[in-house]
Amino acid sequence: MGAGSEDVKRVKMAVVLKQKRELDLMRQANRIVGVVWEAMADAVAPGVTTAALDEIAERIIRQHGAIPSFKGYPHRGRNDFPASICASLNQEIVHGIPSVHRVLQEGDIISIDVGTIYKGYQGDGAITLPVGRVSEEARRLIEVTKAALDIGIAQARVGKRTGDISQAIEKYVRSHGFEVVREYTGHGIGRSMHEDPQVLNYYNPEIRDYALKPGMTLALEPMVNVGSWKTRLLSDGWTVETADGTLSAHFEHTIAITDGEPEIMTRLD
Ligand code: MG
Repeated sequence: MGAGSEDVKRVKMAVVLKQKRELDLMRQANRIVGVVWEAMADAVAPGVTTAALDEIAERIIRQHGAIPSFKGYPHRGRNDFPASICASLNQEIVHGIPSVHRVLQEGDIISIDVGTIYKGYQGDGAITLPVGRVSEEARRLIEVTKAALDIGIAQARVGKRTGDISQAIEKYVRSHGFEVVREYTGHGIGRSMHEDPQVLNYYNPEIRDYALKPGMTLALEPMVNVGSWKTRLLSDGWTVETADGTLSAHFEHTIAITDGEPEIMTRLD
């Protein structure tokens, strides 16, 4: 789940460097996210509702002894988030609410964001999937967003700063003619879903950037729009979509900074 700028301002937590035991628990929490992704990739098809996907995801999370972290997540005095995944279709960017009335259609793209808590530690990750055959534009958007995340992760090493991740993602996305969302960002993660540091997907000298250190755990999550970066919030209080109605994609991994290569925690193996 992406951090809104207000969330990060409100939380004001220090950066927490994790010890080995904590990293082990985060690995397990994030592995469950990977298992859910696999089930989502199998289940997504024309005719399936986003509520059905949510049900599958919640069952898997609980079967693994974890709790869906999004369910009941509070937000700016509005209604708590009612589901275990965020399911955001087409022009929706993030935080879409699963519904029995949202039926996937051939040609849609769907971003599925999954959050888990395992023994007190958080997992958070998102993928965007095509529903059946999709347009060339949609296919390219998904590819560029996924690659932008990999390029950001490649910067996540000791000697670099969070701002290096932000700049690398922005540069790559813009070189493909797309724009990165600004109001929602990556974030530190651990016992809380949203910890410091905030990790933007674009360069902004007004936001503090942090030196990367071993034991930092970050949820990196570029959200990429075909058109403008501007967003609007729907009246349900949660769903964020592109202001201009163009398509949007979203990928997110939780990673750990190490002495060498960054460790990607949201994965299956
Ligand atoms: Mg997140």
